[in-house]
Amino acid sequence: MHADVVIIGSGVGGSAVAYQLAGTGAKVLVIERGEHLPREMQNWDAEAVFGQLRYRTRDTWVNGQDQRYRPGQYYFVGGHTKFFGAAMFRFREADFEELRHEEGVSPAWPISYRELEPYYEQAESLFGVRGAAGQDPTEPHRAHDYTHGPIPDEPVIARLREKLRDQGLHPFFMPASVDFGNGGKCVRCGTCDAFPCRIDAKGDAEICLLRPAVKKGGVSLLTGAKVTRLLTDATGKRICSAIAETRNETIEITADTFVLSAGAINSATLLLASANKNYPKGLANSSDAVGRFYMNHNCTAVLGIDPRSVNETRFPKTLSLNDFYFGGKHDSWPLGNIQMLGKIRAPMLRGALPWVPSKFLDYLSRHSIDLYAMSEDLPSPDSRVEVTSWGQIKLTWRRTNLKPHMRLVDRTKQLLKQAGYPLVVSRRFGDDTPSHQCGTVRFGNDPKSAPLDPFCKAYDHDNLYVVDASFFPSSAAVNPALTVAAQALRVGEHLGRMLACGNLSVPRVGGG
Ligand SMILES: Cc1cc2nc3c(=O)[nH]c(=O)nc-3n(C[C@H](O)[C@H](O)[C@H](O)COP(=O)(O)OP(=O)(O)OC[C@H]3O[C@@H](n4cnc5c(N)ncnc54)[C@H](O)[C@@H]3O)c2cc1C
Repeated sequence: MHADVVIIGSGVGGSAVAYQLAGTGAKVLVIERGEHLPREMQNWDAEAVFGQLRYRTRDTWVNGQDQRYRPGQYYFVGGHTKFFGAAMFRFREADFEELRHEEGVSPAWPISYRELEPYYEQAESLFGVRGAAGQDPTEPHRAHDYTHGPIPDEPVIARLREKLRDQGLHPFFMPASVDFGNGGKCVRCGTCDAFPCRIDAKGDAEICLLRPAVKKGGVSLLTGAKVTRLLTDATGKRICSAIAETRNETIEITADTFVLSAGAINSATLLLASANKNYPKGLANSSDAVGRFYMNHNCTAVLGIDPRSVNETRFPKTLSLNDFYFGGKHDSWPLGNIQMLGKIRAPMLRGALPWVPSKFLDYLSRHSIDLYAMSEDLPSPDSRVEVTSWGQIKLTWRRTNLKPHMRLVDRTKQLLKQAGYPLVVSRRFGDDTPSHQCGTVRFGNDPKSAPLDPFCKAYDHDNLYVVDASFFPSSAAVNPALTVAAQALRVGEHLGRMLACGNLSVPRVGGG
């Protein structure tokens, strides 16, 4: 098999590059290890999704203590967005600059917010993001308002919004990529966050990027093919082929350009597993940063329980709060973002509280309003992805910044109590949930400390790009998908320009 451009992984990053290259005349092949997610009744069944872990990978990883576990990782066409909560935030301008935190420094990005702004706008348009500009006190500059108005609150959330305003806070409508409103597909099914959408109403990478790319032309998709190794040419400067395992055979795919987008943990794994005699530490890794600086937000669910009323909300994710994002008058240090969680159901609580009787969990979930407190995790070289000698993923996560995170959780609890919820409980998300994984193949201006340049090209190789959340030098404290999409659209446009001037079609040289 040969393509002009091979893209490994059909998540946000890979599909955004495919979208930009579609219709340019380039032959693009997207290789995806998963299959299309089946449309079935279980998509919306909390017991199937959380009780039986129906869609979670069966692979096991090991943690920093060498304990095996089954991670909250999903492999399907469209990647993690098939399960995401559709919150589509731009990072703040200051997130692109060096920012001091209580427990260290969040480093500057090699590009500014201004450079990414047009691609944020393109990404919002492709994902049909709904929102309202001018309400979020930390909102970055926007050239234009959202094309679609926000998803309206249901009564319980509208009441909470009022109560937060009464406390002098500035709740805003959360930007979300859900096809809601007149003629829209969303039926407020009552699931959404962490569930697949059975009716394609959630704007995910498959629906918003990959399908339109295939339709535009030049893009084809190979599913059920897990890339296990990248081979370089004799000079080591170019990637010449990808080796992939399908259900029946091992195949080799050659290309002029390789775009790696297998997700932050799998992209690093693949680069490390592709070590050869020229690159004993792994491909793209002369900086020794590949696999290091793994980040994942510090996230805690905070539930306000009101025994006097049942929360009938179907789609709660309409409200968010950034009053504590940079600390401001409330704290000397950045604390992070607060947003609504998808509606909690009893099977979701069972994993965290296995000793609590099901009836009580059911009671809690019917009477709770569910918030999500999220704080930045800072990059540390000791938080890392490695490959064990028997080929398993080893993920060591040394969380940072927990003190400010706990203060954010305390604030969230206080504001729920003040809003009239007599009982407030919280639970931190576990280390086995790498939902906001990023940072493992970071971009930067200095090849000594970063594997990728500002266009996400590997410094060590002329034809290798990495465009999933691996490239983040810092994690900020809002959800990552829109930023992955924006940078991948920028890289895809850049590749398209290079193709147009013939700079990408270099003759292939024999393998090594
Ligand atoms: C439950 C959940 C809720 C979330 N909610 C939100 C939210 O509301 N807002 C937000 O912004 N973000 C959210 N996120 C995070 C968001 O989904 C991710 O940041 C984003 O999807 C990452 O995109 P990516 O392209 O980096 O990687 P991925 O989406 O992980 O895509 C990688 C792709 O590569 C494939 N792949 C992996 N290894 C290989 C291989 N070796 N060969 C071939 N293919 C391979 C995978 O199957 C996958 O399709 C959520 C995540 C989860 C899990």
